[in-house]
Amino acid sequence: MWSIHNHLLLLIAVTCCALFQPLHAAWISGEEAIMGTKVSVQLWHQDKSQGEAAVQAVMEEFRRLDKKLSPYIEHSELALVNRMAASEPVVISEEFYRLLETSHVYSELTKGAFDITFASIGHRYDYRKGVKPSDSTIDTALPLIDYRNIRLAAANRTVSFEKPGVRIDLGGIAKGYAVDRGIELLQQRGIGHALISAGGDSRLLGDHRGRPWHIGIQAPRDKERMAAMLPLVDNAISTSGDYERFFERDGVRYHHIISPKTGRSAGTLQSVTIIGPNATRTDALSTSVFVLGAEKGMALVNRLEDIDAVIIDEDGEMITSDGFTDAGSQ
Ligand code: AMP
Ligand code: MG
Repeated sequence: MWSIHNHLLLLIAVTCCALFQPLHAAWISGEEAIMGTKVSVQLWHQDKSQGEAAVQAVMEEFRRLDKKLSPYIEHSELALVNRMAASEPVVISEEFYRLLETSHVYSELTKGAFDITFASIGHRYDYRKGVKPSDSTIDTALPLIDYRNIRLAAANRTVSFEKPGVRIDLGGIAKGYAVDRGIELLQQRGIGHALISAGGDSRLLGDHRGRPWHIGIQAPRDKERMAAMLPLVDNAISTSGDYERFFERDGVRYHHIISPKTGRSAGTLQSVTIIGPNATRTDALSTSVFVLGAEKGMALVNRLEDIDAVIIDEDGEMITSDGFTDAGSQ
């Protein structure tokens, strides 16, 4: 029976909530098209206008990095390097230099599967228009793809290319890096619960207030369906798929992940999802494992203690890393 006593309890409960939870705390979100993809931010903030400003700060950071790293913007730092670095060493910003060093680390770790000089041939593909280089163009340009063609000199902070025709593109790591930069900005503002995602690369700050975030892995052959949902807290997750940018010709799928060994679309997998501590790492590794294929890719993942993976193979079958089995058997 509803009594005075119940009313009192209710009043105490409401007062407690008001005391411990600021009145206007809420989820705030934003979405914009930047870096050729959909950037979305969702965060929890006590103050609506400060929360909205934080979302805008993340978007601004993405725009800043796009201007610096885009191969399509004529005056980006990356475009300048592609134009000049075969003729002379080019002095670059500290941030760009660090990204080139990081890319080098992933090239070594993956025995060359991750290689930003893929662009020496990669720039000849236009997936929207269905354009691809001829076999002879690929054969001639193949020696240009080799991360060892990039010379970095820390003393002067310069980059140069060993051969004319070498090109770089940070498409396999830049979105993850931007997501990490965005998360850093939110942390500096004292935000404890957030999700930033840029196309296939996402990172979560904290949990979804008392429960995990749930991030879906898209079914590669059915846009409307999720192949799996993963509960995650304080993690990054990246998916590389053969369905993101591609065209088909004579039954062959030409997609945007290039094997440095062949200069052609890599392997047979449909998608690779990597879960790890930050999005720069998961982004680079999702592209790398896609190139390496199921066997070598999963062997690498299982050697890396901070990384887990879900691979969807050519038959649409799901393969998971040891971390999933270990978690299930605990
Ligand atoms: P993601 O969707 O993160 O796997 O990134 C795919 C993008 O990475 C492509 O659109 C290219 O810009 C770039 N990319 C393709 N092949 C490679 C490769 N072998 N190593 C590094 N980056 C690559
Ligand atoms: Mg990637």
